[in-house]
This record gives sequence, C-alpha cells and structure tokens, in this order.
Amino acid sequence: MTPLVIPFFIPHQGCPKRCIFCNQQSITSVSDLDFSLTPADIAGEINRWLGWAKKGREVEVAFYGGSFTGLERERQKELLGAVQPFLDQEVVNSIRLSTRPDYIDDDIAAFLKSYRVKTVELGVQSLDDRVLAASRRGHTVSRVIAAFSCLRRAGFAVGAQLMIGLPKETTVKVMAGARRLAELRPDLVRIYPALVIAGSGLDRLYEQGEYKPLSLNKAVALCGGIKKILVGKGIRVVRMGLQPSAGLEKEVVAGPYHPAFGELVSARILFQQIRRRLSRSRGGEKLYLAAADESLFRGRGNVNSKRLAELGLLDGITVYFNRKQVRNTIVLK
Ligand code: SF4
Repeated sequence: MTPLVIPFFIPHQGCPKRCIFCNQQSITSVSDLDFSLTPADIAGEINRWLGWAKKGREVEVAFYGGSFTGLERERQKELLGAVQPFLDQEVVNSIRLSTRPDYIDDDIAAFLKSYRVKTVELGVQSLDDRVLAASRRGHTVSRVIAAFSCLRRAGFAVGAQLMIGLPKETTVKVMAGARRLAELRPDLVRIYPALVIAGSGLDRLYEQGEYKPLSLNKAVALCGGIKKILVGKGIRVVRMGLQPSAGLEKEVVAGPYHPAFGELVSARILFQQIRRRLSRSRGGEKLYLAAADESLFRGRGNVNSKRLAELGLLDGITVYFNRKQVRNTIVLK
C-alpha cells in the first residue's frame, strides 16, 4: 500500500530566486508570503490526518514547494523538530522533503539525517547545462551529480524531479537526459511538462514570442519515451504532470496541461505495446489485459481501441479484461 503523505507546502521558501518556469504560489494555492507555519500548526495538521488514517498504513510527512535546505538552519530545525515526537511515537514513519541540488552537501546531509529525514527529492529539471542556464536554475549538471553521490553516501532515498519543454531543449537532449538520469539510479522520478504559468518568467518570454511550449501530443510522447527508459532500468516513475486543481487551471496561460496527463502517457505506452504484439499475431487469438487497464486500452473517447481496429489489428481478436492480471501486462494466446 502506498504511504499516506501529509503535505506541508513552503512555496519558494529557501529559493535563491525564481526559476523561469516556476510559480509555486499558483501551483499550490499557498501564498509565498505565508511564512507563518508554526510547530503547533504542523502538529495540529498531523493529528488531523492521523485521525482518519487507516490503522497500519505507513505515514509520511512531506515538505514541498520550496528549497527546504535553503531555509535558515533554525527554521529547518523548527519544522523538522515538530515532526520528531510523531516519529518517536511511531505514528509517522518517515519524512521527505524537496530541495535544489546545489543546496546539498555533506554537512546538510548529516543535519537532515540527524532529524531522521528519509527521502530527499532533488529538483533536477534538466541534465543539460544550456537548458539549466536558460531556465535560470543557477547551477550546472555537475551539482546534480554531486548531490546524488552525497545523498547516496549518507543513505537517503533520492527522488528526482524532471521537467520537459524548457527553453533551449530538444528531443535529443530530453532523451539523453533521461538516460543520464537513469545512470544516477534515483529511487523515484516525477516528470512535469513545462507550462506557461501566469506571472512566471516563461509567461514573459511567451508574451514576447520568445518561448513556444510543447504541444500536448509532443509532451505525452516525450514523457512516454522517458518513462520507458526509466522503467526499463527498474526506476519508479511516481508522477507525470502537475496535480490538477481549479487554482492551477486558472493560472495556466499556455502549454500541455491536461488534468489526466499521466493517464494519457500510460495509455500511449500501452497502445504501442499492444500494437507491437498484435502486429505479430496470427489472428484468432485472445488478448488478455488487466481489468484495471481497460480505460488505458480504450484511451480517452476510445481513441486507442478505435485506432487498433482501424489498423485491422483487432480483426479476429477477442479482448478480455482479467481482474487477477497484473497491470501493464499483455497476454496473447
Ligand atoms: S523550481 Fe524549485 S528552486 Fe526554482 S523557484 Fe521553484 S521551488 Fe524554487
């Protein structure tokens, strides 16, 4: 069972400046001027969540939306300190937080360890120096690699957040970046297509005609390509696309936003796998898929199943959806 995650958002806090694509205020609907999260707030919120958490389920407290290790050390102690009693009582099992690769070193890692942080998610965004510079990240790929080794040495689980569709990026760079990331062996990856969010640096570039976002189709295809590379190396992709919300939808000026972006990517990958298998079929066979994959097989508005039919690949094939079958598996017999 996936752990219950109790999220605390600290939008832009600890960040040295704004990256060109970022507007956490719009993404999280929390004001970046709100520095008022107190230890009592944290304790109250954790207790509230624990009130309805199923017994026996793992519980994780997460600090997202800023550069946690860029906060003053005293503030980090205050926030992490508020979670310690819950870890002592074993009602919370772990802490995760997100930060920038250039805000990780041995001293920071030792500090986080002392406060029992288990997972650090790095905002990697790109593994190309020109793309990082154009996105005003303020660090290079070498800092990403150094942060990975530092966190690994200290025994953390390491997550990576990757963005596609950034300025100066090409398809070749995206795929090369995915292969490079796979070599760093992250424990989990989140992939986000860059959106033009109102008030962000990309918004200004877009207005001036100097930035063209990815189309939804291209973003889905790129994300699918990255996922195949990572999953092929046994790396978990835990999220594709931003969490949809009414607030976010109001703020998206342009770009490949879709509330079910991850599902579009998964449906595309499954479609390609089924197409490959059926193209070798002798006909008259039965195609078994997991019942939970039925909507992916059909695609939005049945687009995928219709396409397979148009290609003649479903001729003489009977499709079954099996409740006991593992997801993303295809059996043809
Ligand atoms: S991408 Fe990360 S480091 Fe950059 S402004 Fe947003 S939260 Fe801060």
